[in-house]
Amino acid sequence: MLDIDSIRKDFPFLEAENGENPLVYFDNASTTQKPIQVLNKLDQFYRKSNANVHRGVYRLSQQATDAYENARKKIAGFINAKDDRSIIFTRGTTESINLVAYAWAQQQLKPGDEILVTEMEHHSNLVPWQITAERTGAILKYIPLNDDLELDLEKPEKYFTPKTKVFALIHKSNALGKLNPVQQLIRHAKTVGAITVVDGAQSVPHTTVDVQQLGCDFFAFSGHKMLGPTGVGVLFGKPELLESMEPFQSGGEMIEKVTMTHSTWNDIPWKFEAGTPNIAQAVGLGKAIDFLQNISMKKVEEHIGELTEYGMKNLSEINGVRIYNKKNIHGGIISFNVDGVHPHDLAQFLDQDNIAIRTGHHCTQPIMKKLGISGTARISFYIYNTKEEIDKLCGCMKSTLNYFA
Ligand code: PMP
Repeated sequence: MLDIDSIRKDFPFLEAENGENPLVYFDNASTTQKPIQVLNKLDQFYRKSNANVHRGVYRLSQQATDAYENARKKIAGFINAKDDRSIIFTRGTTESINLVAYAWAQQQLKPGDEILVTEMEHHSNLVPWQITAERTGAILKYIPLNDDLELDLEKPEKYFTPKTKVFALIHKSNALGKLNPVQQLIRHAKTVGAITVVDGAQSVPHTTVDVQQLGCDFFAFSGHKMLGPTGVGVLFGKPELLESMEPFQSGGEMIEKVTMTHSTWNDIPWKFEAGTPNIAQAVGLGKAIDFLQNISMKKVEEHIGELTEYGMKNLSEINGVRIYNKKNIHGGIISFNVDGVHPHDLAQFLDQDNIAIRTGHHCTQPIMKKLGISGTARISFYIYNTKEEIDKLCGCMKSTLNYFA
């Protein structure tokens, strides 16, 4: 069991101000709040250790470099990457996936090659592949959703052909909370020699991820969805693939030698970190990982699962509520609509009671199309949420629905 009271004390954002209604923050799949330890680390870094990295020979620059590179090590350990050189700091999941699409796929793919995605993807793991297909002449294919809103995996082998060169898939759905059997699917992809790209934006914050066990070639995630600062994310890549790739962006930091006509590249991972990197944010992400590891990812996952089950049960007892992802009872996400009420109206009413929920298509328009709707209301949990907050949400929803009745 998590000691929620003690955890909540670390999140100043959740404190009620001047007798105001305390914030109930249920938009964690979008971004999480930050604990005081991460805020202090950022403050401390800018006050005491700020300098550019990899450049200065003075002590401060070396300290900043150590802090930045230690964060890389921490992240490698967190996802069980064998080699720190596999960890590239990016702006977030979106940039990580674009890096693979531009620097690997757009260089390697030929007309007729196939890129396989799924109908469950966030736009971040779909649009870069659409552009890649257009630019290279490759064909974009997808594993569809079945009527239970799960990937159609009755015969997964039928989607993989000798022409499949890239298989890009979402680990955990931000709209449905479904954790996909990524390891099994990667095995299929490997039988046809495809490279595999996993969008871990929602899985890494919730569960223990082991990239060696998954067997993926690339794995992307964002710091801000797991208590870290915005502006920092990670691309894990197998060193041999990263070594074989051309740079994504170019300029300072990523070079070895530059003449007026030609340049050579730095070693990985720095070859992919052009310009001054997001130093403080990377250090802050390292602190967020310490925070999660102190709690233990097992407990994080259990707590989120318990809240989801409780939330689904209580919400489904409210008249007119229709939950779309009832099967994913522990996924941290509840996507629903209420008969006769537009989700935006519901969110605005709840906001008056200081309850923040997300509404819209959640960057998953193909899922919404499959459901025949334009959007849902979504609540998503994290370590500081409580059952009392869910009770408050349900109470406010009942009064809102009375208003609409
Ligand atoms: N993939 C998934 C599954 C997500 O939930 C998100 C964020 N909503 C992203 C990708 C994009 O993440 P970011 O905006 O941090 O790049």
